[in-house]
Amino acid sequence: MSAQVLSALMEAIGGGSVKVVDLTETLSESFPVLQLPPEFAQCVPFSKKTISRYDDDGPGWYWNEFTLNEHTGTHFDAPVHWVTGKDIPNGSVDLLSPDSFIAPACVIDCTAEIKANPGFILTKDFLLTWEETHGKIPAGNWVFMRSDWRKIADPNNYTNMQEDGGHSPGPDAECVRFMIEERDVIGFGTECIGTDAGQAFAFEPAYPCHTLLHGAGKYGLQCMTNLDLLPAKGALIISPPLKIEDGSGSPLRVLALAPA
Ligand code: MN
Repeated sequence: MSAQVLSALMEAIGGGSVKVVDLTETLSESFPVLQLPPEFAQCVPFSKKTISRYDDDGPGWYWNEFTLNEHTGTHFDAPVHWVTGKDIPNGSVDLLSPDSFIAPACVIDCTAEIKANPGFILTKDFLLTWEETHGKIPAGNWVFMRSDWRKIADPNNYTNMQEDGGHSPGPDAECVRFMIEERDVIGFGTECIGTDAGQAFAFEPAYPCHTLLHGAGKYGLQCMTNLDLLPAKGALIISPPLKIEDGSGSPLRVLALAPA
């Protein structure tokens, strides 16, 4: 039976009735990285150096070395990323169960709200209203906040930084608690640079996505793109981070299988 399921899936992908959607931003030196307050150590941007390119250093081959932070570009946050998740058993990327890298997603379309207010705060009530149309968020699903952030954000000010801090969208603490305690999601994902809203430093608790989700053993995905190509429900997300020993997260390729 399971072999039949897999061959049916491959036939559906080959035949075009299931599409493979790439939710990943290209790793490039120009892609913005998170900026922390100046008293903290900073995230290096992605960089790469060519070792050889069919030349004297390697006449028949091309390869690069690259430098990046575990939290550069489209990336996965593991529970140990946050102090609240430091004692979660097997909470680093190398020890997470591979089962957890394949999970369905509920995609919450917040584009109209975020276009009108880039600092939009996702609430429990917003999710409950979404559920009236699409049904309950099933346990074990990702919740993805669709923002079309690439079209909204200034590429030179990707976090929408203003005098009082960043103004990018994200959930409030009640919404995060709802996702954990009442819906048992696998994690929360966003097209913005962090799972938390730009103003979440001032929430109670601060950074509720990081603080509460990781403390509950849940995951984060950020800097995704193309969420507009997914249905509200029914896409299957494939998101295995790199197997970095004791890693707190990792850049990754995030793919979705979705009805075409
Ligand atoms: Mn991160």
